[in-house]
Amino acid sequence: MRELLRLCVVLPCYNEEDTLEYSIKTLTDVLAALHEDGSIGKCYNVVCVDDGSKDGTWGMIGRLSDRYGRGRVCGIKLSRNVGHQNAIIAGLEHVAGRCDAVVTMDADLQDDVNAIKEMVQKYRLGCEIVLGVRRDRKSDSFAKRHTANMFYELMKSTHTPVIPNHAEYRLMSCNAVECLLRYGERNVFLRGIIPSMGFKSDVVYYDRVPRKYGKSKYPMAQMLNFAVEGITSFSIRPIRSIFLVGIVSLVLTLSVGIYVLAAILLGRTYPGWASLILSLWFLGSLVLVALGIIGEYIGKIYLEVKARPRYFVESVVGEQV
Ligand code: UDP
Ligand code: MG
Repeated sequence: MRELLRLCVVLPCYNEEDTLEYSIKTLTDVLAALHEDGSIGKCYNVVCVDDGSKDGTWGMIGRLSDRYGRGRVCGIKLSRNVGHQNAIIAGLEHVAGRCDAVVTMDADLQDDVNAIKEMVQKYRLGCEIVLGVRRDRKSDSFAKRHTANMFYELMKSTHTPVIPNHAEYRLMSCNAVECLLRYGERNVFLRGIIPSMGFKSDVVYYDRVPRKYGKSKYPMAQMLNFAVEGITSFSIRPIRSIFLVGIVSLVLTLSVGIYVLAAILLGRTYPGWASLILSLWFLGSLVLVALGIIGEYIGKIYLEVKARPRYFVESVVGEQV
């Protein structure tokens, strides 16, 4: 069994002032217990990434860092809100090379912290990536559960390599993190990229509980955004499907043409307002949908070509162990 001497836990935090005290206490207790039973070495710590919070999150991270020892809890403050995915990348970049493995998870600890133990065991047995997968979606609202299912179905149909019910809770070895950081793209969709990286991987099942403190930062609009982001950053099938729709619509137009010709020859023409207006609307919307999909990809190319930095670190608190 290989050793895990240095373990880091990265928590992206956006307006998490209310939850951090509870989360850090719970996490450090779990990590201390893991150290006690010999699963990990004595160099373990929690890195909170303040993703441009508007509440007192950064002050809270500073206080917790002082309370738990500056090596145990540290924080990096990003200059503005860059979103969940980029905040995770910022955390990973910060700890890369300074630890043997990293666990990323949401700051509200909705994902069962006790699964870290199993993740660590799998790492020690040789896994480079261990994905946390929810057993079910009982703790989600009706709307969230159903939109999530639709999201995974859509992902499957576009051949995007996602593991259903796996979110951002996972353990990665230092090597896997360094490889991940070589992906230069701006439109990051970690839960698609990471399972597609290869490496010896495994999953750990856990139950997700409702959020204890604070509220969700993923309203419906954000989730939709995330779904479009996920699909278009991985698959060009939607663009291809436009081509297919175009062919089908051409064939349809041809048969309509034959029908119209026959009607004219037989002298059976009607005042065609209804069919005209219908086809105008139909074709008009088809063109708009097609343009929309193409626009989504062109937008992505635009962002990638600019290759802007993903984030800026404004300040750092606490020392890395
Ligand atoms: N988060 C972030 N930046 C954002 C939005 C969210 O870093 O712009 C973090 C948030 O602090 C939390 C995680 O992403 O740690 C997941 O967010 P949340 O718990 O609100 O999502 P939900 O569990 O409701 O899907
Ligand atoms: Mg949450």
